[in-house]
Amino acid sequence: MISADTPVRFLKGVGASRAKTLEEYGLTTAGDLLWFFPFRYEDRRHPTHIADLGHHLDEAVLVRGKIITAHAKLSPVKRMKIFEAVLEDESGAVKLVWFNQAFLSDQIKRGDRLAVFGPPRLSGYGHLQIESPDWEKFEGDEEEEGAIVPIYSKIGNIPPKALRRIVAQSLEALPSFEDPVPESIRQALHVGPIAPALEQLHRPRELTDEFLWRRSPAHRRVILQEFFTFQLAMRVRRATEEVKKKDRQIRIDDSIRAEVKKILPFKLTRAQKRVMKEIAGDLQNDRPMYRLLQGDVGSGKTIVALIAALIVIRNGHQVALLAPTEILVEQHYQRISQLLDHSVVLAKATGSAAPSERRTLHAGLRDGYIQLVVGTHALLEEKIHFQSLGLAIVDEQHRFGVEQRQRLFAKGETPDIIVMTATPIPRSLALAMYGDLELSLIDELPPGRPGIKTALRASAQLERIFRFMNDEIGSGAQVYVVYPIIEESEKLSLKPLKQGFESIRSRFPDRQVAMLHGRMTPADKEATMQRFKSGEIDILVSTTVIEVGIDVPNASIMLIIDADRFGLSQLHQLRGRVGRGERKSYCILVSDKEKERLDLFAETRDGFEVAERDLQLRGPGEFLGTRQSGALRFRMGNIVRDHEWMERARDVAIDVVDQGVDRAEEIVRRLLGAEVAAVRD
Ligand code: ADP
Ligand code: MG
Repeated sequence: MISADTPVRFLKGVGASRAKTLEEYGLTTAGDLLWFFPFRYEDRRHPTHIADLGHHLDEAVLVRGKIITAHAKLSPVKRMKIFEAVLEDESGAVKLVWFNQAFLSDQIKRGDRLAVFGPPRLSGYGHLQIESPDWEKFEGDEEEEGAIVPIYSKIGNIPPKALRRIVAQSLEALPSFEDPVPESIRQALHVGPIAPALEQLHRPRELTDEFLWRRSPAHRRVILQEFFTFQLAMRVRRATEEVKKKDRQIRIDDSIRAEVKKILPFKLTRAQKRVMKEIAGDLQNDRPMYRLLQGDVGSGKTIVALIAALIVIRNGHQVALLAPTEILVEQHYQRISQLLDHSVVLAKATGSAAPSERRTLHAGLRDGYIQLVVGTHALLEEKIHFQSLGLAIVDEQHRFGVEQRQRLFAKGETPDIIVMTATPIPRSLALAMYGDLELSLIDELPPGRPGIKTALRASAQLERIFRFMNDEIGSGAQVYVVYPIIEESEKLSLKPLKQGFESIRSRFPDRQVAMLHGRMTPADKEATMQRFKSGEIDILVSTTVIEVGIDVPNASIMLIIDADRFGLSQLHQLRGRVGRGERKSYCILVSDKEKERLDLFAETRDGFEVAERDLQLRGPGEFLGTRQSGALRFRMGNIVRDHEWMERARDVAIDVVDQGVDRAEEIVRRLLGAEVAAVRD
């Protein structure tokens, strides 16, 4: 009897060596094999006759037959190794061609029976051939020839057919397989039992569109289990962590309310007020806050965080605000000093501080004299200790790695935490990444902002754009010109930026033109930014260093050169640098490529929609940067395609935890037991 716990070595066809190979891929039991899904299926019930291939040009089809000749040769044109074979069935023969796979001569020989899967094409000489098809040999029996065959990813050197037989045996464990998801939760998730779903996925009876698009009930069952496991584990962890109470009591009394009112230079928007209430509630709770504050560029997140900071400070604790760049730290520092007007002891922590400044900073934080510190990565240094860190705020959190954020949080006992982002993370992704965070959303811009007109122009129109720029500058506008130099890479040359700067300077002899990039010293950067802010500079030619958070109300034109080289979310960030004051603002994209994608961007104003599209176009890995994408791997679930399922899993997980943490923990344990270690790919 095979059960889910049966070690793979007890399966037929698995000797010591194959068992070892399977284990290397994380497949140690029959249960593991059940969760090792085919990545594709071949319908071998209906092979195409070779004589009919002409009707299937460029469309992948299955052909079955016998190899009548096979040989490697050198391509005369490209000096490339080619392996050619001729496959014959009862209707005719066709040439198969593989490029740079000379090793195939050891594997495919005359007389072999082969199933190949690939698109027939016309060769340069007008002959029909199938190029680089997937292939598989039939050894002896033909039992699989009339079936839908699951195709699994390669496991070491185990031949595909042997692997299929091994996995097929694991299906014998299904009748005794206990469903890790209890019936009541299955109902809430709208899914059926697991055994038939697994059976379907390994041995589908039909390949419907729904099935191929991974939307069948069987897929839904498996994906929802994956998402639910993830969500429940996160919720349980949080629920048990939450038992850890804060070592401080935060009160919001009338004097604090009065002070907040006094420093506010404007009326908060409705969305800001709502979020403020959420945060104030969390602060007064005896469990630490962990909140993601999302809001489009310019939606006014800073003031909300600052009010939270003031509340914590007036209750006798310290606050740290972490930002990704010195320019941004400087801007926060100045804005906060203006608003708070010496009523709070404020400090800055940046890499460019002198040793004596650093000593003062370290001492002030350690003995609690400094109440609010704004800093870059310098805040994360080991030497920095707080007397009592009550609130940690991370601005533009996606710019920091998980460990970096963690390092900041570890500087307090149980600090309240707010992470802010101006790259609006689509809700589905936010849930997937931060199922254990509370989400607050500022979904409204402060009033009185004239719109930003976005236009896409070809590079041939640059001169016209320049004339327009000149007119606008004449009436008091300031302009950003951005070149696509990625600042993170040290090696990249700044030459295109410098050339751009020179050409703009000679085109605008009467205007003040300056350049800004990440390799200037922080002092130079700041001085330049300051001159731009004060209106002394008309045109700032720059890389994406200005992308994050900068606020210059008078800047009303954002000209982006080679806009196709930017991600949509990045473009949205850049666009958010203008339209911050009273002037009508323009974001002009210059590009001769990718018109469709950029047009789409030009039409979309809402940052969330941009992010959603970016996500669909580039996938979560690109969207988030490779660092964070690892955490988002699911075996079958895809957080973009299946995001509604993620939301459903989340809702159910919350309910289950609400009904009792102990039971939830038990279910997580069972789910994680059923869930196998990830298979390497
Ligand atoms: P972001 O959310 O992009 O970080 P900021 O916090 O920098 O946005 O705010 C953008 C600008 O809007 C700032 O100049 C800020 O002072 C201003 N602002 C924020 N909230 C309001 C409001 N309720 N009314 C008017 N202006 C506001
Ligand atoms: Mg900001």
